[in-house]
Amino acid sequence: MTELPARIELDRLSRGHHEWAGSLPAGATPRLAELGASLGSAEAAFSVEIGEDRPRVEGTCLGRVTVRCERCLEPMEVTVAGEFALVTVDRIEEADDLGPDEPVVVASRGQLDVLPMIEDELILGLPVVSRHERADCDGGQRHFGPPGESAPARDNPFNVLESLRKGETGEDH
Ligand SMILES: [Zn+2]
Repeated sequence: MTELPARIELDRLSRGHHEWAGSLPAGATPRLAELGASLGSAEAAFSVEIGEDRPRVEGTCLGRVTVRCERCLEPMEVTVAGEFALVTVDRIEEADDLGPDEPVVVASRGQLDVLPMIEDELILGLPVVSRHERADCDGGQRHFGPPGESAPARDNPFNVLESLRKGETGEDH
């Protein structure tokens, strides 16, 4: 999938409907990272409508984000889906004129920064509380991977015992 453009110059777009779709490049979500969430991958599709009024941006995004389970502190992957319909403003102060029901995205001097816009939507879509399902969450005592994947050997105390035993008896002195 092609990467999304980092920036769109709204002033250069002709009147009408313009569409983009693509993936987020790696490292495009520094604020997600600050929240302790790492982005596996994300895609977005959106359109920009240029008409009489302020340009409008509408779209959807879908990301796979790894966060930490608050119960067992092990990583868990969550799928974050966002849907947005935004009015572009030159400065955030202009949002006051539009009222609280009109979400905005700042496109200073007609420059729409695409990646922070998508990142915002992904952050908004993060679960308030991240926890494994009960069956998958056990306080970090066990480490089960996806179906078909065996647990890492180092996490199995019996394997540790086994290797100790081998160390004692298997070495030639
Ligand atoms: Zn858990």
